[in-house]
Parts: sequence; structure tokens; C-alpha cells
Amino acid sequence: MTLRSVDAKQMESLRKMIPEDRFSTGDSVLNLHSRDQSFHPPSRPDVVIWPILKEEVCAVLKYADENRIPVTGWGSGTSMEGNPIPVKGGIVLDFSRMNRILQIREQDFQADLEPGVIYQDLNERLRHKGLFFPPDPGARATIGGMIGNNASGTRTVKYGSTRDYVLRLTMALASGELIETGTRASKTSSGYDLVRLFVGSEGTLGLVVEATVRLAGVPSEYGAAVVTFPSLNAAGKCVFEIKRSGLDPAALELMDPECIGLMNREKGLGLSVLPTLFMEYHGPSSHQLAETIKVVKEICVDTGCTGFNAGFGRGERDRLFRARHELGEMILRNHPGCGVLVVDVAVPATAYPDMIAAVKEEMKKGGVTGYIFSHAGDGNLHVNLVGKREDQDGWRRIHTVADRTVAGALASGGTATGEHGVGIGKRKFMEAEHGKSLRWMKKIKTLFDPNGILNPGKMFPYNDDFLQLTR
Ligand SMILES: Cc1cc2nc3c(=O)[nH]c(=O)nc-3n(C[C@H](O)[C@H](O)[C@H](O)COP(=O)(O)OP(=O)(O)OC[C@H]3O[C@@H](n4cnc5c(N)ncnc54)[C@H](O)[C@@H]3O)c2cc1C
Repeated sequence: MTLRSVDAKQMESLRKMIPEDRFSTGDSVLNLHSRDQSFHPPSRPDVVIWPILKEEVCAVLKYADENRIPVTGWGSGTSMEGNPIPVKGGIVLDFSRMNRILQIREQDFQADLEPGVIYQDLNERLRHKGLFFPPDPGARATIGGMIGNNASGTRTVKYGSTRDYVLRLTMALASGELIETGTRASKTSSGYDLVRLFVGSEGTLGLVVEATVRLAGVPSEYGAAVVTFPSLNAAGKCVFEIKRSGLDPAALELMDPECIGLMNREKGLGLSVLPTLFMEYHGPSSHQLAETIKVVKEICVDTGCTGFNAGFGRGERDRLFRARHELGEMILRNHPGCGVLVVDVAVPATAYPDMIAAVKEEMKKGGVTGYIFSHAGDGNLHVNLVGKREDQDGWRRIHTVADRTVAGALASGGTATGEHGVGIGKRKFMEAEHGKSLRWMKKIKTLFDPNGILNPGKMFPYNDDFLQLTR
């Protein structure tokens, strides 16, 4: 059963389903939907459709399934692993115009959303209600894309990832069938948890057309600290001690001196160019927060910090974290003509300091330029490895560093991807990470999408042989 690109007759049939202003085969539109924010090569779809109704999504899926045409969901295209790149062409369903906040139920701490809602826009609407949606991947991501990738962010260490906030989903399946799954209750023991299965499935099992998400109360008080260390290893050990102390940081981000140098240059932060932790704590009162920061300082001093700066106002704290969020873009700006491979391993807390030391060593051995900045509180290590696009030998060395880092993470009981998803780049590690259970994942895929039309070429290592392998 081979997937096919859209032929002229099929294009006409699709055109009849969707108004002209939400249907495009124009070059610039196809190019825009051919790449995400990763180094993976672009691949154009045949057509881009912007649905605004669930029924339109279902009709397109039904037609595509009957005609074996690939369909890939698209949010904002900010993925870091090629997740929304339509590697087999076909149809891209861009959800950016299906972006209504349908209902906010303040008293239930819930919101009903269409998939194209941008999470920052949701938080802007929630600001005056004293509520927020905590997962914060930084880029202007959509709820559908965040659900697709199970996105996380700087606050995940305290609040959890997207998966922890999805209560209910309306999914359009490959056949065009619409199902609702989950509950508005805050807990349930009823049946298989399909919501958790769909979250993180990268649009390979179905497409989100509506979601009910949980919201959190905005904390009364915020406290931030910037702490420097003589080595990354010492900073890593401090992360471990803070976690062990039960202090419950709301952000615990690690940056190497190279990152701090970039941030100083671009944002004029004037920070000491040393391994640095950005921390944030949330609390009900300034008194309680002051106590917390006092204990944090003691731990930092005990683990050998060289500088401890707390007591930032809200504006300064926002400036620091905004700079942290923009690091990925700063790295690209400062390396014109280069591509970036982002290592995204996550490991148990005890393995974290050794993981940092190992990746530094690998970079040194391979002569590879890299920037370490991490959601350290989650044991999630990001290393942005930089190489000139045309330097084949350089890219071979970059891949060696990345592969060895993933192998080390898996050996310590960790994962190849903490938050960016499998996409294209992490497929090769799936067998090593999941062993026999990968075969069961394939069976699930076949059950939901027997013709393999949904985001083909992703998630599984041998996607092209996928149907033979699973039948
Ligand atoms: C500067 C920068 C910083 C980032 N920082 C972080 C970070 O801290 N943490 C983090 O987790 N990520 C981070 N990311 C990665 C990215 O922003 C997130 O993965 C985000 O969730 C992607 O959302 P999107 O709307 O761009 O989705 P897209 O990239 O468009 O799509 C993501 C996946 O979801 C699928 N999809 C899209 N819409 C739907 C739908 N309606 N139903 C089902 N599947 C769908 C796509 O097919 C694709 O597989 C960062 C990216 C950038 C550029």
C-alpha cells in the first residue's frame, strides 16, 4: 500500500471541500510548510489547507485515507526535530486559523480550546483571571503542536509537561471518524487513558481538533536567583542538592559560560561569564519566599557557588528569562551559515552531573562547537551543536557527539528526547530506547492509522517498511 502525492483530479476534489482562501498550492506557502526550526532538510507538501471546522478536518482525512494521501498536522512549525515536515508530501493541515478559545471555566480551572490557539495568547487572556497555562516551550507554539510533541519548558520542573494538563481531547482519526476521549473531572480511573496516548504522538495517531486543558493559579509571589559556579559539574551537583531538599523550584536552568557570553553581548545582562543557574521560586507570601531563598543560598554555598544574586524585581527577572528563551535564536544569529543539531536527552537526577561532564568530553574529543543550556531541574540536557552547513566532516563529528550522548543517556536509564519529540532525528534511537515495546507501539499505530497516512516517516525507525513489519 503505497502513499501517493495529490494528482490533478484529487486536487480538484479537495478544492471543492475547502473555500479558496483557505487552500493553497502557491510556492511560497509550500516552502513555508516544508521546514521547521531544525536542521533537517525541507520537504514540500502538495497542498496546504487551513481548516476552521472539525467537519472539514474529518472530510479531508476521509478523502486522504481512501486515496492513500499523506496528511501532516501543522501548528506553528517551531519543532526542533523535523516533527511537522511533510517528508512524503501530500496534504498539510495548518491549524493556525482554527484558533478560538471556546470557553474558560474559571471555577473549574479549565479551558476548552481549538488546536491553533497560541499558548502565550491564552495566558494573556487568563492574566486578569489569576490563572495560567504553565507549559512554556518559549517559541510561539500552538496548543495542537504542544500536544503533538508533549512540549515542556522552564517551569516543567514544578508544574509538569503538556501531558499533565490535557484532560479531554476531540480527535479526528485517519478514517475521518471523530472521537471524544477523557473527562472534565480532575481524576479518573475509567478505561484506557487514550488522552495520554495521543499526547506526544506527533500527529501520527489522529489530529487534535479540540482540547480541554487544566489551568493553574498564578502564584502571589515570585523570587529569582542567578548563581555562578566554578564548573558545570559543580552546578549540576547543586541542582541535585536543591531537588533533594524538597525546595520545589519553579525553574532551574543551567547555562554554560558560552551561553552567558552570548546573552551578555546581545542583551547587555552584565553577568559573570561562568557556569550559571537561573532559578525561580513561587510562593504564597514574600516572607515564605525569603525563607526559601535563604535555604537555597545555603545549599549553593555548600556546593561551592562563586556568586549568588537574588532579590530581582519582576522586570529584571522577566528580562533574564526572556534572554534564556531566546538563546536558540542567538546561537543561530551568531553562527551565520551554520546549522544546529539540538541534543535533548533527559536522565535521572543522579546521572545529571556525569552526563554534563561526558558531553563536554565528547565535544572536546570531536572538536565540535556546542552550547549547553538545560532544563536542569528536569535532568533535561540541551546541547546545541553547531556546524557549517557544507562541512560534511564536521557534521559527521557532530552526529558522533550526539549519538554517544544519547547512548550515555539511555545507559543511565534516560531518554533520547526529553521534550522535542522523535520527529525525524530521534527515530534511530527508538529501538534502543524501547526494545520490544516498540513493536506494540507499531501495532497501536496500525490500529489507528491502518494505511499509514498520518505524518508518515516519523516516530518509527523503519517507517517505509512499517506496514510489512507490523502485519
Ligand atoms: C526558540 C525555540 C525554543 C523552544 N523551546 C522549547 C522548550 O523549551 N520546550 C519544548 O518542549 N519545546 C521547545 N521548542 C520546540 C517547539 O516550540 C515545541 O515542540 C512546540 O510544542 C511546537 O509547537 P508548534 O505549534 O510549533 O507545532 P509544530 O511544530 O507545527 O508541530 C509539532 C508536532 O505536532 C503535530 N501537530 C500539529 N498540530 C497538530 C494537531 N492539531 N493535532 C495533532 N498533531 C498536531 C505536528 O504534525 C508535529 O508532529 C522550542 C522551539 C524553538 C524554535
